Amino acid sequence: MLKTLLRPHIFNLTPYSTARDEYSGEARVFLDANENPYGDGLNRYPDPRSDELRSIIAKIRGVEKSQVFVGNGSDEAIDLIIRAVASPGEAIAITPPTYGMYGVAARTNGVGVFSAPLKKDFSLDFELIKIAADNGAKALFLCSPNNPTGNQLPLADIQRALDLFPGLVVVDEAYIDFASGPSAVGLLKSRDRLVVLQTMSKAWGLAGARVGMALASRELIGVLNRIKLPYNVNQLSQSAAIKRLLDIESFKNQVRSIIEERERLRSELTDKIAGILEVFPSEANFLLVRCERPCELFKGLQSSGIIVRDRSKEPLCDGCLRITVGTPRENDELIEVIRRWA
Ligand SMILES: *Cc1c(COP(=O)(O)O)cnc(C)c1O
Repeated sequence: MLKTLLRPHIFNLTPYSTARDEYSGEARVFLDANENPYGDGLNRYPDPRSDELRSIIAKIRGVEKSQVFVGNGSDEAIDLIIRAVASPGEAIAITPPTYGMYGVAARTNGVGVFSAPLKKDFSLDFELIKIAADNGAKALFLCSPNNPTGNQLPLADIQRALDLFPGLVVVDEAYIDFASGPSAVGLLKSRDRLVVLQTMSKAWGLAGARVGMALASRELIGVLNRIKLPYNVNQLSQSAAIKRLLDIESFKNQVRSIIEERERLRSELTDKIAGILEVFPSEANFLLVRCERPCELFKGLQSSGIIVRDRSKEPLCDGCLRITVGTPRENDELIEVIRRWA
């Protein structure tokens, strides 16, 4: 199976073997990696396999450690996946409006991008996905909950995409911890062409540390681990991520409060503000807001020191701004400025 999905030279690749890969067991004196012997830990190379971090993620997500890749943000996983499956001149498929990095990573690698836009209700258009498959797209990138529309795809739709599309199906779950529906991770047992991407940049509050992950079959994760840069996640980030993952209580509290604020913000913005046409339901930590004069509102917020994202040029997002849920006080300020503007 894997052999037919991967570019042939990737399938046959022998990875770089680091000094740390080649010793196993206990050692007291490390004279194998040309490091400076003086220091408090950062003088040593980090664990190239991020073993401890991957074990903790595996436990939290209910998969085997061998099914976890960790990278320099999920952006690294996106890039590696594209390079593993698509040669220059071949293509991947995306479902706009969606996260911009799939297309950028593809084009950077000389890989084409086939668009299968979402339907008006932000659901998948299976006819277009079938056409992408017929055109030989190597991977299909789905985003759920989707950035910037905020909706989560039902698992049945992801299953149907897997049935229709013979290549790799990547489900980006950057916002899964804010969602009410189930993760696609549960499908990994029965689907060896599925990759689920998650990240510590959103709900886990570690965007600055750059830690993202891919969860998939042991074989596919083995390939990503072979083609990544040897020390792709630095020591400071591995330590910060481990510390954060072990403090589940504070994670849960933050997520709960962000979800509460999201719903409060949605109802306050939906109610009685002239100039706001629609606030879409959200399973993420942002709201997509359609307004009469998006540029004007954007500038009004900006002149009060509040920056939001203008998504009005994206397909299906006419007039839309994307607003991240902040602290209760930040959200109060946002509402006040919008009321004044309206
Ligand atoms: C924010 C975001 C990411 C995060 O990427 P990292 O590289 O892990 O910070 C991934 N996918 C989507 C859809 C996002 O919105």
